[in-house]
Amino acid sequence: MSETMDKLHETIIIGSGPAGLTSAIYAARANLEPVVIAGSQPGGQLTITTDVENYPGFPDGVMGPEMMELFKKQALRFGTTYIDAHVTRTDLSQRPFVIELDGERTLRCRTLIITSGATARLLGLPSEKELMGHGVSACATCDGFFFRGQEVLVVGGGDSAVEEAIFLTRFASKVTIVHRRDELRASKIMRERAFKTPKLEFRWNATIQEILGTPRDGVRGVLLCDTRTGETSELLCQGVFMAIGHKPNTDLFVGQIELDPAGYIVTKPDSTRTSVAGVFAAGDVQDTVYRQAITAAGTGCMAAIDAERFLEAEADAHG
Ligand code: NAP
Repeated sequence: MSETMDKLHETIIIGSGPAGLTSAIYAARANLEPVVIAGSQPGGQLTITTDVENYPGFPDGVMGPEMMELFKKQALRFGTTYIDAHVTRTDLSQRPFVIELDGERTLRCRTLIITSGATARLLGLPSEKELMGHGVSACATCDGFFFRGQEVLVVGGGDSAVEEAIFLTRFASKVTIVHRRDELRASKIMRERAFKTPKLEFRWNATIQEILGTPRDGVRGVLLCDTRTGETSELLCQGVFMAIGHKPNTDLFVGQIELDPAGYIVTKPDSTRTSVAGVFAAGDVQDTVYRQAITAAGTGCMAAIDAERFLEAEADAHG
């Protein structure tokens, strides 16, 4: 990695979702002059959602993108530098850490806060890949509008599947949740809401074996497999939305930092410290349990405080 002579930053934050921008607010207020590298989805996953109804302080709800703009504004107000770039490589083997942006320039930092989040999981079918953007989507709030008056499926049984399915009933003539078991994983309130939503149906104990259609003509249906009998059947639809969970965005850090078997960054108990001294992680990239905007923001705050204390302890040790 070629290194340009650049300022040595106290703290660089990778990611600009609730965790990253909360880290930035706290780090900036601690005079660490943080640099946020926005990444491939500036603002994070909330920028592809609609109403956020469970973030405290917004009793009437708030649109996800609007909330992330507010986070960003607050981080900038206290002197955060916000760089619209993608991290292409990191060297965490020695300090200062080196962060490469867009394969071009490099930045150096004393502490690093990783808040790179997670991205939607897919089934891994060739037809899913071929028809992505041609009737297959992983974001109902981005693409739901295109399915006005049509029949669509949502794959999954968690809160995301239910939330996306309810949202899609605004446009689609019928929405079917296809779940591999006979019971939703979604929270009680979401389950109750789902069962009360008109136009929303369920297909239990079924997995998608293939998505039928062509990129030219779009999706015309799916081939379902009954998980109890193994029998297959076709279900006609024009749209298929994947909502089967997320994968942590940690490919960059493989071999450099401890990850759990699912790829999440391992943090020390009751802190955001990782296996590398001076590197902290917050938000969905290290959270296998809660994965909420508010918990991401909370751990983002913790990471900034941990980084500040780490730098202070180091300064004290050096006299
Ligand atoms: P999730 O809770 O992990 O649920 C994933 C769902 O996809 C599960 O029902 C799972 O089935 C199914 N699934 C996984 N792999 C599959 C495969 N290969 N084929 C078929 N089905 C598969 O993920 P999530 O719904 O994205 O939610 C993630 C977290 O965010 C949760 O903590 C959730 O509470 C939170 N969240 C909250 C809200 C809200 O409060 N409004 C909204 C969205 C998300 P099984 O059930 O059989 O494992």
